[in-house]
Amino acid sequence: MKIDVEGLKSFIPEEEIWSLLNKNEKPTHDRVMEILEKAKLKRGLDLEEVSILIQSHEPEMLENIFKIAKQIKEDIYGRRIVLFAPLYVGNECINNCVYCGFRISNKECHRATLSSTELVNETLALENQGHKRLIMVYGEHPMYSPEYIKQTVETVYATKTKNGDIRRVNINAAPLDVEGFKTVKSSGIGTYQIFQETYHQETYQKMHPSGPKSNYLWRLYGLDRAMEADIDDLGIGALLGLYDWRFEVMALLAHSFHLEEKYGVGPHTISFPRIEPALGSDFTNDPEYAVSDDDFKKLVAILRLAVPYTGMILTAREPIEVRNEVINYGVSQIDGGSSIGIGAYAATDEETTKKSQFVLGDNRSLDEVVRELAEHNFIPSWCTACYRLGRTGEDFMGYSKSGEIKSYCQPNAILTFTEYLNDYASPETKKAGIKLIEDELPKVPEGKIKEQLKLKLERLYAGEHDMYF
Ligand code: SAM
Ligand code: SF4
Repeated sequence: MKIDVEGLKSFIPEEEIWSLLNKNEKPTHDRVMEILEKAKLKRGLDLEEVSILIQSHEPEMLENIFKIAKQIKEDIYGRRIVLFAPLYVGNECINNCVYCGFRISNKECHRATLSSTELVNETLALENQGHKRLIMVYGEHPMYSPEYIKQTVETVYATKTKNGDIRRVNINAAPLDVEGFKTVKSSGIGTYQIFQETYHQETYQKMHPSGPKSNYLWRLYGLDRAMEADIDDLGIGALLGLYDWRFEVMALLAHSFHLEEKYGVGPHTISFPRIEPALGSDFTNDPEYAVSDDDFKKLVAILRLAVPYTGMILTAREPIEVRNEVINYGVSQIDGGSSIGIGAYAATDEETTKKSQFVLGDNRSLDEVVRELAEHNFIPSWCTACYRLGRTGEDFMGYSKSGEIKSYCQPNAILTFTEYLNDYASPETKKAGIKLIEDELPKVPEGKIKEQLKLKLERLYAGEHDMYF
């Protein structure tokens, strides 16, 4: 793969972002109110409006931001939360990202790559928990070529148990060239996720001193190349704590607008991981850039207002209390029962944990996560219907913005949750789940879909699997 960035310029308007943040340092009450009124229309916000909300500190305004974010989430996504798990395939890496346990100079890192038998065992362990959606994670190394990634994805899809199969594999791996993306796409992936980590070029260079990742533009244009290879479900993200979060939030939006303008469709998901201590790393991020829980909550809510139709992912890097709170303000996907050691689902010995990339904040099992969601009236969903029926990219956004998607999502969540309860749930989780489904069914609008939903539920109870609209 030849890294070629000739003729490319960054589409992140660094100067404009800073000048907006400086200009709007002390927004007036009326201007904030005006923007919040606009946000309620669910048509999104522009960079200037976001710079104002970011710097609005009045407690009453913050409450309003949270209230509107919650409302937008419920209008668009209902109370559904999509569940997934990360599957770490290999931690060989030729980059030297200063914050990551897998960086090449970390001599304490136990390097490992799953053999195909281990990959099958990991997949079986995940299926036996009840997972249907995975994100497969790879270090950046010539070993993890597009052909290799394709082959590992195909192995996962081909690994099935009596009740279980993986129905959607997303990818978090290095940016590829267009040919590489085409190869990976042919294995039937869902989203390809690439985090820019920090959009601030000077900080980026410091954090990524060597290896292919040191090329800011190659990474920044990674998802453009994915789009050119016809992968239209893309995930963007920033690793919070490397630079000023206010800048990163605006830059995430600028990235999203760039994709929307150029390809007619913005990213499918946005991620906003906060940096965690990495094993074997003495990197401590600049305390000036550490993101407090309050700021984290605020930035999630502002993102929800700014891009109402983009999925937002909250991972188990965060502690349980933060997850339980932030989930209210716009998050649409979380992971559950996650392990991030290589081979950690099938084996839980200490050696395997040492192969982890960083330390997780939420170590609950999937069953516990599901039970807590149900007890808080969130409907866990393992739905994969859109991508399997070709409702992706621009098509997906069309369905989503017209509101049509909702008539599928709610029944699909009920169906996949019922399947989970039948096959995997502990008695307590089953009790909480059945109650939630009993409350939810009457809310499905009367009509053809509801009739079909009832029939599909009967078929699930009779032992069939994988029902969707
Ligand atoms: N190697 C590929 C890459 O860097 O894009 C993909 C895998 S990498 C393990 C996935 C993501 O983990 C990175 O994009 C980064 O945001 C995140 N990450 C790395 N170190 C982290 C840390 N200490 N805390 C939280 N997230 C971290
Ligand atoms: Fe390698 Fe990705 Fe970790 Fe960087 S973040 S060291 S590229 S695995």
